[in-house]
Amino acid sequence: MFDEVIEVINSCSTFLITSHARPDGDALGSELAIYHMLRDMGKDVVVYNQDKTPAVYEFLPGSKDMIHFLDSVDGFEAVFVLDCSDIERVGDEKDKIGSIEKIINIDHHASVGTFSEILLVDSTASSTGEIIHRLMKNMGVTITEDIATNIYTAIMTDTGSFRYSNTGIDTFRAVADLVEKGADSRQIAKNIYETKPAVQIRLMGKALDTLEFYEGGRVGSIYVTQKMLQNEGALSEHTEGFVDIVRSIDGIEIAIFYYESSKDLFKISLRSKETVDVEKIAGKLGGGGHVNASACRVEGSLKAVKEKVLGAIRTVCNTL
Ligand code: 5GP
Ligand code: MN
Repeated sequence: MFDEVIEVINSCSTFLITSHARPDGDALGSELAIYHMLRDMGKDVVVYNQDKTPAVYEFLPGSKDMIHFLDSVDGFEAVFVLDCSDIERVGDEKDKIGSIEKIINIDHHASVGTFSEILLVDSTASSTGEIIHRLMKNMGVTITEDIATNIYTAIMTDTGSFRYSNTGIDTFRAVADLVEKGADSRQIAKNIYETKPAVQIRLMGKALDTLEFYEGGRVGSIYVTQKMLQNEGALSEHTEGFVDIVRSIDGIEIAIFYYESSKDLFKISLRSKETVDVEKIAGKLGGGGHVNASACRVEGSLKAVKEKVLGAIRTVCNTL
């Protein structure tokens, strides 16, 4: 698995790195870890994301170097597509990115896309960051403080600060190594969880006013519309983590967060606490993800979208 990736790293000198639209901590930390590693090796590297970096992640070393406009991909010998089960998820530039000769896909999703021949995929890994840490150990490269900070952030955010079931013994071994290499666990947690703007908490209050329960309290949902964002002066990135508030309620097995991204288009985040496979539910609606965390996009009015999602839940979980 590692050999093919290492061969491309050693034989090429110009790289593009990208990940999914609306990047999260795992996407950004993974991209920037690879960015620093390749730069330390003397390579030419560009990191492109369709969407700008959410403010809470701007502390990540290298984040200012990212670009959000891709002119031409001529000259890139290889591209790293990270934390992305499907090339569609990189956004509008998927065709350009897909045309680069060597595509390396490093990911921890169960459903793996067919867009790349060079795969480093482990669906049991907590995060793409954890796989990248393994790759670096395998290569014997120096894990600098900048790399350690990025990978630690990737792992911490994708494991919900080491609370989710994807957190294994290997995860703790990896983060112990990263702290040893200079990742400041307290400072990173503070940057991510304790720097929210007040508008985000106000928006959270409005979102919580929409709380609804179904299936005897085992399913719960909240929503945010564009109007609610405007009223509070908040941004879409401020909704990160809202679905987890619903999951934190006693008795909830499935948490749903409906986010109106534009008129009659909703991004739906699904979370489960125990055994319900929300990837199957998201899959029925054209999305995907992991057993306990998935997402999809559904068109229609809020009422129609709610009915579709609840219908998919009832089909997949006939014993809820
Ligand atoms: P979130 O709700 O945090 O945006 O996404 C939860 C998980 O669902 C992500 O870790 C990712 O694996 C997956 N996911 C998010 N959006 C999409 C999507 O549009 N398509 C697919 N296949 N998976 C998604
Ligand atoms: Mn991830």
